[in-house]
Order: sequence, then C-alpha cells, then structure tokens
Amino acid sequence: MATIINGKEVAAKVREEVRQECVRLGEMGITPGLAVIIVGDDPASRVYVNNKKKACEEVGFISEEYALPAETTQEELLALIDRLNSKPDIDGILCQLPLPKHLDEKAVIHAIDPSKDVDAFHPSNVGKIMIGDYDFLPCTPAGVMELIHSAGIEVSGKNCVVIGRSNIVGKPMAMLLLHENATVTICHSRTRNLKEICAAADILVAAVGKPKFVTADMVKDGAVVLDVGINRDENGKLCGDVDFDAVAPKASFITPVPGGVGPMTIAMLMKNTLKAATLH
Ligand code: NDP
Repeated sequence: MATIINGKEVAAKVREEVRQECVRLGEMGITPGLAVIIVGDDPASRVYVNNKKKACEEVGFISEEYALPAETTQEELLALIDRLNSKPDIDGILCQLPLPKHLDEKAVIHAIDPSKDVDAFHPSNVGKIMIGDYDFLPCTPAGVMELIHSAGIEVSGKNCVVIGRSNIVGKPMAMLLLHENATVTICHSRTRNLKEICAAADILVAAVGKPKFVTADMVKDGAVVLDVGINRDENGKLCGDVDFDAVAPKASFITPVPGGVGPMTIAMLMKNTLKAATLH
C-alpha cells in the first residue's frame, strides 16, 4: 500500500514559513499585498477567491478583492489591471480564471506587470521558466514539486510521465521535472499507447480533468502517483483524475483528492506573493 502524501500538512508548513518570513519583512516596513480580481459569479471561482483571501490573512498579507460584474467590459478590466500595476502597496495581481466568454483571457494575462504576475502566466515569466531562470513558478506544478520533495523522492534520472499539456499545469509541470533531470514524456488526447507509456513511469502526474481516468493497469508497481485533477464522480463526490482505491495498493507514494495537490496551489501563491514583495 502506498504512502499517502498529505498535501494539507505540507501546505500548512509552507504557509507557516511564509508567515514567518512576512514577520521578518514587516520589521523592514514591508507588507506583501495581493490583489485578486474576480469577474462574474462562478461558484467555484468564488470558493477559490475566498480561500486565497483567507490564506492571505493567515500569513499576514494585505489582500484586496476586486469583484466585478459579469458584464464588465475588456476596457474596464484592463483599466483596473493598469491601476493595480502601478499601485505601490500591491505586489501580486491575480485574475481568477476562467473569465466570462466575452473577455479575452490572453490579453488580460499579457496586461499584468510580469513582476506582479504571481500566477506566472505572463509569456515573459513562462519564458523564464523555460530557461530555468525565474522569479515565480506556476503555483500548481510548483506545489507538486514541493510534495515530491517533502516525501524525499529523488527525481533525477527518473522516467516521468505527465498526462495533460495545458499551459497552466501540464507543460510547466513537465518543465519543472526536466529541470530536476527527469526524463519526461508529455501525454495528451492524441497520444497513442497511453496505457503502455503511463505503465512505464516511475513518477506519473495526472492533469487530465477526467474523474478516475488513471486506472490500476496504467500504473507500474512502486510508481509515485501525483493527482492534480479536481472532479466530481457519478455521485457528485470530489475526486481526482486517478482511481485512488485501485491505484493506491500498487503505488509507492500517492496524493489523495481532496487533501493532496489542491491545498498546495494556494500555499505556493503565498510564496510567490512574498517573493514579489521582495522584488518591488
Ligand atoms: P485542461 O482541460 O486545460 O487540460 C487537460 C489536458 O488533458 C489536455 O492537455 C488534454 O489533451 C488532456 N486529455 C484530455 N483527455 C485526454 C485523454 N483521453 N487522454 C490523454 N490526455 C487527455 O485542464 P487543466 O490542465 O487546466 O486541469 C487539469 C485538471 O487539474 C482539472 O481537473 C483541473 O480542475 C485540475 N486543476 C487543479 C488545480 C489544483 O489546484 N489542484 C489547479 C489547476 C487545475 P489535449 O491538449 O490534447 O486536449
């Protein structure tokens, strides 16, 4: 049976480190500030934004919420970002995605000052990650790496498979594993022989967005399995991309959903905001 990597515990440890560092910065007259923009009333986005605000309070950051109506125009949203870009007490700007359909996400991401882009979605930050010389790492993949490190798992030389190639999770995840000298395969919806490729992985990261997609026959005995997915099963219960009950007996380490990668994303956002405060 696999050792379960407890994301709640690791995330709490990261937040505590950030809190202590925030106290230290406070002695130098610096208080990190995060602005969170939410457009419309998507219930999942509302939960994420509330959790981010709560985490900011816990670690001692200033947090400002900008809740805009669903009919906000592109010009209005860009004007707000422009204001926040030059607001001295704001170190990080996060625009909760997805945005309502009429808004251009790409233009919004491009408008955020890269030095305040704590999600690390701006092309300039993406490029920096590519060459391994970065200020911020994207929160979810960075959280997965933190979990791997917390469990003492060696990445160098390992055969790593990432299922998913989104700009937010799959691609940067693969890059971070590569930076730690893994041999990385990225799989997606057109991949042939997915089962065989996954079954050869020492470390398997699932970022597909399909409930219980990774079954036991896709996992090698003793593999490390990290589950990024946040889905609902047929009974409406929260579940990951991995069929946890079937895979856990085969794996050496596994992350649960909930309580695995999920809590890490916000913890890493706090880390990025702290870093941003030291850059300004
Ligand atoms: P996307 O929908 O953007 O990407 C999904 C990826 O999975 C795509 O690359 C897609 O391939 C691939 N895929 C879909 N079907 C298959 C298939 N049958 N075989 C192989 N690959 C397939 O999702 P995200 O990357 O944004 O998110 C992935 C999951 O992670 C979601 O459940 C999301 O909710 C969760 N998530 C969790 C976070 C956290 O904090 N824990 C943060 C962000 C996301 P293709 O490119 O070919 O379409």
